Amino acid sequence: MGERSLISVAIIGGGPGGLGTAIALAQIPFLNVTLYEKNPEPRETGAGISLGANAWKVLDLLGASQGVKGGSKSNTHQRNAYNGKVLNVVEHPETSDAESRGSIRARRTRLQSALLARVPEGIIQFNRKLVHLEDLTDSGVRLVFQDQTEVVADLVVGADGIHSGVRKYLFPEHKLRFTGNTAWRVLIPNSRLTDIPEITTTTAWWWGESGHVYFSDVDEEYEQSDPLFEITIRSYNEPEIPGKTVGWGIPATNKRVFARVKEFDRRIRDAVNLVGEGEWWEFAGFAGPRLDKIIGWNKIALIGDASHPLSGAFGSGATFAMEDGWILARALEYTQFLFHPIQDALEIFDKIRTPYYNKIYEHLDESQEKMQQFRAQNKEFDAILQAKIDLMLYGDKDFIYKNDISKTWKEYFQDEKRQHRP
Ligand SMILES: Cc1cc2nc3c(=O)[nH]c(=O)nc-3n(C[C@H](O)[C@H](O)[C@H](O)COP(=O)(O)OP(=O)(O)OC[C@H]3O[C@@H](n4cnc5c(N)ncnc54)[C@H](O)[C@@H]3O)c2cc1C
Repeated sequence: MGERSLISVAIIGGGPGGLGTAIALAQIPFLNVTLYEKNPEPRETGAGISLGANAWKVLDLLGASQGVKGGSKSNTHQRNAYNGKVLNVVEHPETSDAESRGSIRARRTRLQSALLARVPEGIIQFNRKLVHLEDLTDSGVRLVFQDQTEVVADLVVGADGIHSGVRKYLFPEHKLRFTGNTAWRVLIPNSRLTDIPEITTTTAWWWGESGHVYFSDVDEEYEQSDPLFEITIRSYNEPEIPGKTVGWGIPATNKRVFARVKEFDRRIRDAVNLVGEGEWWEFAGFAGPRLDKIIGWNKIALIGDASHPLSGAFGSGATFAMEDGWILARALEYTQFLFHPIQDALEIFDKIRTPYYNKIYEHLDESQEKMQQFRAQNKEFDAILQAKIDLMLYGDKDFIYKNDISKTWKEYFQDEKRQHRP
């Protein structure tokens, strides 16, 4: 048998999805992988990130879980934002195996560093913003970058986030819209807040009518002399300001942020007042129509936020993105000796991940519908809030938070074998 030629893969974007995909694909000998990131260096401004059992499973597969440490000591409280009343407490398990490892809140930079450390040297090119794609039919995809350079790749992975440029080429009619939902996020030293009662002692959501506040450790205490603490404020009905409502992090003034909590409990206001001017980052939420297919041109896969523009619903988007990349790697291994290895691998990737995303969308729709029905029958804030918390905490979401992506692959593989058995 003659020598096999390498398949060239261009990954666009170095978020959790792009980095996870680079790690998984770089382990496959017949792939030649390059990741193109538009920023001049690794950049992550989004404060903390929640990682649960599904995240540990894929991070274990990528060999990156050891590097991700975060705050996990406290139980999670749900509270009324106006009077602080505790409405629910969920206790976190003290275990450390992947099966039952509880959710942690980590600095986003920790996840990023852990992934970066697992990407082999020479794969990532910074300062490479993709500006154009062309389908060369049987000869791959032509990629043009802002610096006027070009490459041709056999397979392109669009891991370029919710505002994906790659998606625009595959689905030009797909348009994002501002959801009205905006988040302000900050990490500050825990010690700044310890004098305020009940703020740093637990992870807590304080719910108001048109927004909420989230407080959480993002560090393991023993690791840092002055661990960091996250405050995220969300407002659900912000007006769109042309040119200013953007999806990436922009600095926000204290006045702008304080206005969203001015009617909340004193402890929230005190905490927000201890954030220094210039420390807040603002993120406007965007969402778009759901995609029926997350592949195109027989040589492009969309992964992570590029593939399911859900605007952070379920707080697990980084894990979804890494799972996508890992499945794509398995599919490429599986089809390597077939006549159309890339096309067939993409079909498998789509066959596994699109139904999974559909299940997530269905869950989202059902929850929204239940909430609408409840609101139609109940006008009291307390009752509506309790229903919202119950839906958030107790709906069946194991298929998300306990998802074992290696099991998904095994099941697919067994199914295939069964179907092709003579
Ligand atoms: C407020 C908020 C809170 C969230 N909380 C959580 C949470 O707790 N847990 C969780 O798992 N998820 C959370 N998410 C979702 C999570 O952040 C995303 O799902 C995740 O970052 C998606 O990863 P990604 O790699 O697909 O995209 P991104 O992280 O958006 O990365 C895309 C990368 O592509 C690069 N890029 C873009 N365009 C180009 C181009 N043209 N050329 C080259 N590079 C390009 C960008 O610079 C970026 O580095 C939250 C989201 C929001 C908005």
